[in-house]
Amino acid sequence: MDDYQDIRDGVTALCAEFPGEYWQKLDSSSEYPDKFVAELTASGYLAALIPEEYGGSGLGVEAAGVILEEISRSGGHPGACHAQMYTMGTVLRHGSLQQKARYLPEIANGNLRLQAFGVTEPAAGSDTTSIKTFARRDGDKYIVNGQKIWISRAEHSDLLLLLTRTTLKEQVTKKTEGLSLFLVDMNKALGNGLTIRPIATMMNHHTTELFFDDMVVPASAMIGEEGKGFRYVLDSMNVERILIAFECIGDCKFFIERAKEYAADRKVFGRPIGSNQGVQFPIARAYAEMRAAELMTHEAARLFDAGEHCGAEANMAKMLAADASWNAGNTCLQTHGGLGFAREYDIERKFRETRLYQVAPISTNLILSFIGEHVLGLPRSF
Ligand SMILES: Cc1cc2nc3c(=O)[nH]c(=O)nc-3n(C[C@H](O)[C@H](O)[C@H](O)COP(=O)(O)OP(=O)(O)OC[C@H]3O[C@@H](n4cnc5c(N)ncnc54)[C@H](O)[C@@H]3O)c2cc1C
Repeated sequence: MDDYQDIRDGVTALCAEFPGEYWQKLDSSSEYPDKFVAELTASGYLAALIPEEYGGSGLGVEAAGVILEEISRSGGHPGACHAQMYTMGTVLRHGSLQQKARYLPEIANGNLRLQAFGVTEPAAGSDTTSIKTFARRDGDKYIVNGQKIWISRAEHSDLLLLLTRTTLKEQVTKKTEGLSLFLVDMNKALGNGLTIRPIATMMNHHTTELFFDDMVVPASAMIGEEGKGFRYVLDSMNVERILIAFECIGDCKFFIERAKEYAADRKVFGRPIGSNQGVQFPIARAYAEMRAAELMTHEAARLFDAGEHCGAEANMAKMLAADASWNAGNTCLQTHGGLGFAREYDIERKFRETRLYQVAPISTNLILSFIGEHVLGLPRSF
């Protein structure tokens, strides 16, 4: 198995220029990591998945995942820009030749940011096919009305990949039909039917609500065929889950390394706290859980890169890695005693950041229900 040591070394060197203090400052002022994202873009890492013919480096999901893992492991927060890597996958796999030629080189060189992915709605939640945002055809354009919630990085993106209904759910035979995808030029739409409202969250995530009020989108902005959008987002969702699993593995490594160092160093009752099994075993367990999740994550990436079905593995990887990083974070915080709560140690920040992945981009219960129904053949629960 390739361990991608060159990529790991390169990303680690870049991240060394952005130490904990950089992320702490942004976290406390809710600012976007502009400088970090600019350097990551300039170094080509965010274009890892774009084929070379379009100006990217043409790497696979496994290599791209390693980039995000190393950012997390170094103490950074890849959630600020990870979607720039994978959202373009829908354009790459389902866009027209003209769309690919127009957008992919500009995304690869960083002139355009496509890192906003608009799926979730307040009323529909996890029940994606119940979304209500509607795009009505009017000659050579569509008129969009509706609302999205939790659309991250919308204020830091030029383009939005937007999932809408073009046929009402009540009028389709299969609920996954009648959904369509658009690549929306946000710079044109903002103030012309699109309003963005930021949502303050427990971590620095730049997520927003979007409101569409007769927003006009040219018909040429549709990705693929009308009504087939749900199918197009599925493979991008698998990539998203695999890449986020890699991030969680990076978080695990950060937490385990910090916990290990502190447990070996900190002396209470005249000996290192790590010599007590009550402190040592949770760290050892976190390591074992991380390794198991890491194997599943690489397996999911391998399957995707080989063009094979990876839905079950992508979901399991994301769930196992998110569970492992949450537990590793909790263990690291506990190992540090009071210091775990001090901002300058970065542990409480990473603890807040990794907690998200129990809920987004898909919550753990929905993954369990996917495994129950589609892998084990148990009766459908909803
Ligand atoms: C910070 C942040 C960033 C996000 N970024 C994006 C983004 O960029 N783009 C985007 O489209 N979305 C984004 N999301 C949305 C995210 O994908 C959703 O929050 C997630 O899919 C869960 O949907 P929900 O919040 O509506 O929860 P709900 O669907 O309301 O679920 C609430 C709880 O109930 C559980 N639940 C629901 N139904 C069932 C069931 N049938 N059986 C068992 N349990 C069930 C869920 O597991 C969950 O724990 C983001 C969310 C957050 C918090």
